[in-house]
Amino acid sequence: MPEVHAKLSASGAKKWINCPGSVVLESQIEERESDYAIEGTTAHALGEAKIRLATKEYTRAKYHKAIQDLQVDADMEDYTDAYRDFVIEQLNSMRRETKDAVLLLEQKLDFSAWAPEGFGTGDCIIIGNNRLQIIDLKYGKGVTVQAAENPQLRLYALGALAAYDFLYDIQEVVMTIFQPRKDNIDTELLSAEELYQWGESILPIAQKAYNETEEFCASTHCDSGFCRARPICRTYAEKKLEMAKFDFVKPSTLSPEEISEILEEAESLSKWATLVKDYALYEAVHNGMEFPGYKLVEGHSNRKFQIDDTLIASQLIAKGYNEDDIYPRKLKPISDLEKYMGKKEFQKLLGEFVIKPPGKPVLVPITDKRPALHSVEAAMKDFENVWNN
Ligand code: SF4
Repeated sequence: MPEVHAKLSASGAKKWINCPGSVVLESQIEERESDYAIEGTTAHALGEAKIRLATKEYTRAKYHKAIQDLQVDADMEDYTDAYRDFVIEQLNSMRRETKDAVLLLEQKLDFSAWAPEGFGTGDCIIIGNNRLQIIDLKYGKGVTVQAAENPQLRLYALGALAAYDFLYDIQEVVMTIFQPRKDNIDTELLSAEELYQWGESILPIAQKAYNETEEFCASTHCDSGFCRARPICRTYAEKKLEMAKFDFVKPSTLSPEEISEILEEAESLSKWATLVKDYALYEAVHNGMEFPGYKLVEGHSNRKFQIDDTLIASQLIAKGYNEDDIYPRKLKPISDLEKYMGKKEFQKLLGEFVIKPPGKPVLVPITDKRPALHSVEAAMKDFENVWNN
């Protein structure tokens, strides 16, 4: 769930632990709720309601009331079903060990003993048999989120320990990321002792961040932590501009090693440029900010009908125009047809006609999981049709 109130939030911990100055810099940028965040909030609310229904805490009427205003599509139904099933499976497994196992959903967790005024909301907590399990639903499908050394999960777990350790004498903590759109279920297991030690280790840095230090450090956490300050952060910009050390006037002199280095940076440079452009446009439109050498103008637009397309079509048909000539007839994409027909029926009727042509060759980092195309000749042969298209 998004945490907008705590200065040191669990969701922002990756940033403030690695770059304590991010707290003060991010506070200078207006927080805008993205479509992804809204989608995530909806998925959390739906998942929570489904679990409460499955555990009989909600009646069907109460469940429908809880989800009545949510904008849900078929995929979200499937993914939240998977989340509910996973949580129930974990709960049942704990209940097989001890009938006293408890399930807590959307609990406010106070971890201020390790990060001043820090609190957050834990999606799902299961406690029993001296074990605490935290399950965090991630609805994003961009970056695969790992559980190992994940400071958000660890802070939630510390908050849960602070609230329940004295009642349940917790010895072991299991922290799980459930990210259905990436097929990712990842877990870290620590003893309560190890977790307390980690909490102690981050306390000095949390104090610095809370006191609004201007100590910055740019690295992968800037992008993976989605730091809002990236468009204005000097440290981040300097890191990106290290690229300027290359002499672009004589590209033919670049060695393969230098080109690798550029390739490595190129994608993040282009993302950074987009961030800066979006920020500047937003500030110019909404806050009247001016940027020397730039002005705000009306962008290009295309003509459109000012009444509904169906009314236009009915007028044309009434005048004798053929419907087939005014409406494009196009088969739906495979994924839409599969959803519409159901996987089984789709496979039965159309499965034999589906092929997956090879994708165009792309240069990716060596860490990419796809196998390398070793033979240039074979690759050329495989892809000659693709090149020619
Ligand atoms: S962009 Fe990076 S260096 Fe700058 S404040 Fe954010 S986390 Fe720190």
